Amino acid sequence: MKAPFNILDTYNALLKGSKAALGQAITLIESTKKEDKEKAFDLLGKCAMQDRKSIVIGVTGVPGVGKSTFIEAFGKYLIEEKGKKVAVLAIDPSSQRSRGSILGDKTRMNELAVMENAFIRPSASGSSLGGVARTTRQTITLCETAGYDVILVETVGVGQSETTVKQLCDFFLLLMLYGAGDELQGIKRGIMEMADCLFINKTDQNETMAKSAAKEYSNALHLFPPKESQWYPKVLLGSGLNARGIEKVWEQTLEFQETTKKNGFWDSNRKAQEKWWFREYSKHLLIDQISQTQDWKGREKDLLDKLEGEEINALEAAKELVNSITKTIKG
Ligand code: GDP
Repeated sequence: MKAPFNILDTYNALLKGSKAALGQAITLIESTKKEDKEKAFDLLGKCAMQDRKSIVIGVTGVPGVGKSTFIEAFGKYLIEEKGKKVAVLAIDPSSQRSRGSILGDKTRMNELAVMENAFIRPSASGSSLGGVARTTRQTITLCETAGYDVILVETVGVGQSETTVKQLCDFFLLLMLYGAGDELQGIKRGIMEMADCLFINKTDQNETMAKSAAKEYSNALHLFPPKESQWYPKVLLGSGLNARGIEKVWEQTLEFQETTKKNGFWDSNRKAQEKWWFREYSKHLLIDQISQTQDWKGREKDLLDKLEGEEINALEAAKELVNSITKTIKG
């Protein structure tokens, strides 16, 4: 039998940077059991008291662009050259379908994974994008408590998850391919607009083409309206496979941090994120609590039967359920 989970011990172990405690704590916040959730909230409450010292970098791009290869090279660089502790988390909107995860089902980042100052956690599977994102946000807090300086959040750039991921990150990096003929190769304009830095990957294959793509992307970026951060994203060239150009990404990250700390955006962005998550958590906790009540369960069953009998449609049923629950609460 597993030893009972002690919040204070776990918290202290986290402060000392214990990876075992970090793994355990993440498992706790991913748990759907009520008693685990309560413990997780206690632990997160303690962790949230800490100053936020890490930088959270979102890394996105279409499947095959080279995200995990890049993250492995970038992570190693940050650890070996810059003395950082690096955590890698993933948000994978497809994990529900594949029941796997972008980091979990392939053996990737082998070298980074065994480094003492690296922590890699695959995406939580089997839940919704919103659920994965909420867990990731909490995992970021735990990683910060455990002393990780740089937290890389990997996500597949297919347009669904970026808006949510943006709410987790300080700096948003978009990896791009070149030579697909089509300038934006499936990357939605909105994602490009969100990026703080573009990295044209696999430059080792054809430098001339990569350079001309960089020009095109630079021109495209100039057409976007100025960002609230007053930051002008650069287009970088490089290769994750040969670890080329990655130091420039770090330079850009630090420059972004310096610039936006000076102009106030860094802090105001984090505050805006906190407010966004407050709304997100409120909705989630409300639904979570109410849907556990007997009232909800009973009414839901009645309405499901009515739907089965085609006596009602989905919207009517939802309205009826919510009306009857709010009446009970008011009464
Ligand atoms: P992801 O799906 O975006 O995570 O992409 P992967 O990191 O799994 O890379 C997809 C493929 O591209 C793999 O076969 C990698 O070896 C290859 N690859 C990644 N980065 C580079 C690069 O910089 N140059 C070259 N030539 N190949 C690369």
